Amino acid sequence: MDLLGNTLQETVEAAKALGVSRHRAAAAYADFFRTDRCTEPWVEDCMPPIRTTTIDEETVKFTLSLGDGLETESVIIPMHRDGRVTRTLCVSSQIGCAMGCGFCETAQMGLLRSLTASEIVAQWHAARHRVDNPFDGGRGFPIKNIVFMGMGEPTDNLPAVLQSIRVLADHHGPAVPASRITVSTVGRTEGIRTLARFATARGFRKLNIAFSLNAPNDRIRGEIMPITRAEPIARILGALRDWPIQRSAAFCMEYVLIPGVNDAPEHCDETCALLKGILCSLNVIPYNPRRESPWRAPTEEEITAFVTRAIANGQFCKRRGTKGRNAMAACGQLGNANIRRRTFVPVRIAG
Ligand code: SAH
Repeated sequence: MDLLGNTLQETVEAAKALGVSRHRAAAAYADFFRTDRCTEPWVEDCMPPIRTTTIDEETVKFTLSLGDGLETESVIIPMHRDGRVTRTLCVSSQIGCAMGCGFCETAQMGLLRSLTASEIVAQWHAARHRVDNPFDGGRGFPIKNIVFMGMGEPTDNLPAVLQSIRVLADHHGPAVPASRITVSTVGRTEGIRTLARFATARGFRKLNIAFSLNAPNDRIRGEIMPITRAEPIARILGALRDWPIQRSAAFCMEYVLIPGVNDAPEHCDETCALLKGILCSLNVIPYNPRRESPWRAPTEEEITAFVTRAIANGQFCKRRGTKGRNAMAACGQLGNANIRRRTFVPVRIAG
């Protein structure tokens, strides 16, 4: 049996059909997720093998080989705070992506396929237990947070994403609380509403959502994010306003800062006006040039000017680091160029 895609309860039920007691099933489940041991003959090791591991300073990018020749891509990102380091795992929900955002490397390969819940949880299992850890000479990293910010659009694969969150948060398994999991979306109202319903259930109320706003208005957003034609900003913000619990930490508005596109002082002011009255953090992500990018990365001065202006406007605002650029592991840089050259899936716009 593949445990990766199942919660403890589901495992117990499936094991019962094989004549295995609840107690033994629970022990096997905990062994597999906590110590990476398969202690029972009915537990299969379904972990896809690690294909590559690339390191840029402290950021580790790894890929898993799937049975059909495709690969997942994930990144383990160090977070330094008060002299301590914790690690955030960035997972992919799809291979490639259908959203077609002009600034994103993954979009260039189109959508190859969605991942199963098992393949999403496998990324956590590999990061936690199997990826070489050159910093302590062993294997695996303690993972504090999980962000769905790798390849793919989570709302395009919601059943698998939600099931993977159920497993990741299972106390007897990975035990990553929902408050430490963030789903990042290009912004599709129906998907946000489904996520909101999911976040009303016990144990998932503190799930975090990040919205890739990326522009002050629909005109500029439409130039870099084709989804805007189907889903204008106002509609998405409306869906976010209905999120069950309004906490300042719950919403993160992501804003990829691209010189000459969305970085002018008036863009900053317009964005802050748009977000007035919504408890959220504006997260400025310096643009990481994709391959063959028409735009350059912003300078430190340009980033600071935008962030300082947003704060002066009364908007809570942070800048995101640019870890992993040298390993093509930073935001928006995931995607296998060889696969991209081989396959083409046309961009499809929902709505
Ligand atoms: N599909 C999801 C998750 C994908 S990427 C979404 O759209 O939110 C996670 C974040 O990286 C998004 O906010 C996206 O806008 C940002 N991003 C994409 N390409 C980038 C790039 N080249 N440089 C910096 N950030 C980028």
